[in-house]
Amino acid sequence: MPLGKNALKLEETGMAHTKIGFIGLGNMGAPMAANLAKAGHSITGFDMTVQAADGVTMAASAQEAARDADIVVTMLPNGDILRAVAADIMPIMTSGALFLDCSTVDVDSARTVADLAMIHGVASVDAPVSGGVGGAAAGTLTFMAGGPEDGFAKAQPLFDIMGQKAVHCGAAGAGQAAKICNNMILGATMIATCEAFALADKLGLDRARMYDVVSTSSGSSWSMNAYCPAPGVGPSSPADNDYQPGFAAELMLKDLGLSQQAAQAVDADTPMGARALELYKQFVENEDGRGKDFSAMLPRLSERGHS
Ligand code: NAD
Repeated sequence: MPLGKNALKLEETGMAHTKIGFIGLGNMGAPMAANLAKAGHSITGFDMTVQAADGVTMAASAQEAARDADIVVTMLPNGDILRAVAADIMPIMTSGALFLDCSTVDVDSARTVADLAMIHGVASVDAPVSGGVGGAAAGTLTFMAGGPEDGFAKAQPLFDIMGQKAVHCGAAGAGQAAKICNNMILGATMIATCEAFALADKLGLDRARMYDVVSTSSGSSWSMNAYCPAPGVGPSSPADNDYQPGFAAELMLKDLGLSQQAAQAVDADTPMGARALELYKQFVENEDGRGKDFSAMLPRLSERGHS
């Protein structure tokens, strides 16, 4: 929940008018930057395509947005773009400034960027988020962070504005590791929940009864209890809105891809994550999953027979 009148004022945090560069003002970045501006920080932003965001002074380049900034926040599509932006701006960043990446990227890119920052005397924290576009707008994101203690402490006032919780998970890359492990569990449990509903249908078990039992039994999970993929059952979820996202299937596909890239890199056996990746890949690339919520796996599975 937003902190409302209980939120700390900037003066109380000792961080009045921090100069922040914000690079990547897309669906997530624009509302996050707007919340920082609303809280009184001075935000200079840059995006390759987006021309404006609420309360943000737009710059003509990433370097211009990062110059003289106390903190640079990035919210970019992937690791390659993050590496390119970091290589571009690190040399001109103020020594002692903080580079705070909130994108979801591969663990390797997060660690490479942290190494680069160290060379330039910049502190670096990887802090991917969960909570989606709604959480970004409401300032209720959860941040999972990796990097040094002092970098995390410096980022904390920003986390307090943009989110409701920040967990310091460990050294550089630990935030990305937490994010992809969480979402690998989410992808696999959503598919398991959906296939159980599809089986229950064919066994003649009423969906509402199935929800009543499973949500209070050992088969319960966030996918069942908080985000039930069956329309009209459980709390309100994207299933009740014709599977409009929510959390789009292609974003789940991206995160499952990152989990399998990491699993391969460190030789970890993740068979359920691998199968979840295959199913979401097929759904997004060969079926009609693109643009639908990731819980639309239920109608997809319901239409099929045992193969
Ligand atoms: P988005 O595509 O809407 O925004 C990315 C922005 O980066 C775009 O506006 C693009 O123009 C800009 N960009 C690309 N290359 C650039 C460059 N070189 N310099 C400056 N700007 C550049 O994506 P989004 O939904 O805002 O997601 C951003 C990140 O957050 C992704 O890593 C995503 O995985 C993660 N994420 C998204 C959600 C969600 O629900 N959308 C949830 C959690 C995490």
